[in-house]
Amino acid sequence: GDASLDIDLLVIGAGPGGYVAAIRAAQLGQSVLVVDKQYTGGVCLNVGCIPSKALISASHQYESINHASSFGITASDVKVEWSKVQEFKNGVVKKLTGGVGALLKANKIQFFSGEAMFINENEARVFNEQEAPRYRFKHCIIATGSRPIELKAFPYGGRIVSSTEALSLPEIPKSLVVIGGGYIGVELGQMYARFGTQVTVIEGSDQILPGFDNDMSSLVAKKLKASKTEIVTGAQAKSATQTENDVTVTYTVNGEDKQVTADYLLVTVGRRPNTDGELGLDMIGVKMTDRGMIETDHQCRTSIPHIFAIGDIVAGPALAHKAMYEGRVAAEVIAGQPSTVDYKCIPLVVFSDPELSSVGYSEKEAKEKGYNVKVGKFPFNINGRALSLGVNEGFVKIIADADNGLVLGAQIAGIEASNMISELGLAIEMGATLEDIALTIHAHPTLGEIVLDAAEVALGHPIHAI
Ligand code: FAD
Repeated sequence: GDASLDIDLLVIGAGPGGYVAAIRAAQLGQSVLVVDKQYTGGVCLNVGCIPSKALISASHQYESINHASSFGITASDVKVEWSKVQEFKNGVVKKLTGGVGALLKANKIQFFSGEAMFINENEARVFNEQEAPRYRFKHCIIATGSRPIELKAFPYGGRIVSSTEALSLPEIPKSLVVIGGGYIGVELGQMYARFGTQVTVIEGSDQILPGFDNDMSSLVAKKLKASKTEIVTGAQAKSATQTENDVTVTYTVNGEDKQVTADYLLVTVGRRPNTDGELGLDMIGVKMTDRGMIETDHQCRTSIPHIFAIGDIVAGPALAHKAMYEGRVAAEVIAGQPSTVDYKCIPLVVFSDPELSSVGYSEKEAKEKGYNVKVGKFPFNINGRALSLGVNEGFVKIIADADNGLVLGAQIAGIEASNMISELGLAIEMGATLEDIALTIHAHPTLGEIVLDAAEVALGHPIHAI
């Protein structure tokens, strides 16, 4: 028998949840070991947030060169070298994953490449091809993330791909079917549409991006349709048959069977938590929900008090910044601090065209919570910066408590909505009022002024509205 190596904290998974937790715990004096069976930086850096945004940005470059005539600029013979686009994307991923490795090292965190498996509540073994050391830990943070859901009717392989393969297709497809109009399907579908792919999105509910109000998602739907993307809502994808060169999807809409053939089929119908398999959670008896998530309390603690769980394997939106937030909290709790999670203010962002973002309550949610609601909405198309960027669509909407002016939530549709939402998250976290926003000097001319203008609309004295 081999002896266990002693550590304070074992972190299983080096995604945004795990690596942030490890660094925070090391800052607080813990001896930390991080293990990952596949990636440094997890899904997010390797096959999620980062590579998708790199490709989206490349596709915007291409599109803007081809659509600059309203600025008086025309270009001909613009070419895409897909292998170089892939190189650009891979370079961004490499830089960031290398950066995470360097951060772990700088914080004196041990890293072991291998798959973790619990032996009991206090020990785990980590396997790779060469060795299988066992570790005894005082605390453990499980941050094993999630993987694409695979539907029986659409097994991945060949022409049927998940988001992972969709980020590295060997060529720009001439045509692509996307099953699932959630944010991943829309972001990747629209990225390829910009490169000229004929895209068909098949969505079960009555709108794409069902998590967003229709006044936001409809702007994206309109843009998609303008780029000849077909959106089929209220549709049920049933089966697919593939040949070497293409794939034919059968779906039902309004009780009628239809078919569409394309170069590739991307299935993005959600993600499932990595809580099954060899990890051995059943052996140690961690409490799970019926959806395979790990149950945690307001300090990210599982039913076993010295074992914590964060990120995509626990309840809440499966987003990198939520995983990182929980990572910080779990590490601080383990180090003896009284930290707790507060989910009131997790921004949701879609990197579509136009971008969508939201934080805090929507108007409907605020009303349901019993607030006396006051709303200010301001469009992009009379903002100087937006117009000089050639943009004339989108809006900022701020939801506030009419009784005291406190900001309760915000939604933004438009260019840079992803970056603009942070100001409103801060407003909510700080307990800012509409007046606080309106009295904050926003640089001119910037998109940020739209936030100020929306606050003034809610206050009833807008300068820039009739
Ligand atoms: P993960 O990032 O999934 O990392 C878990 C790690 O654990 C993996 O590296 C895995 O190898 C390892 N692991 C699993 N089991 C074991 C084991 N037994 N032993 C050892 N290691 C193990 N989120 C955003 O916020 N913004 C975005 O723009 C965004 N875009 C996305 C685009 C795509 C295409 C996809 C797929 C996802 C996107 N996400 C985005 C979601 C984001 O990637 C996840 O929410 C985030 O990565 C979750 O972090 P995590 O730390 O929980 O787990």
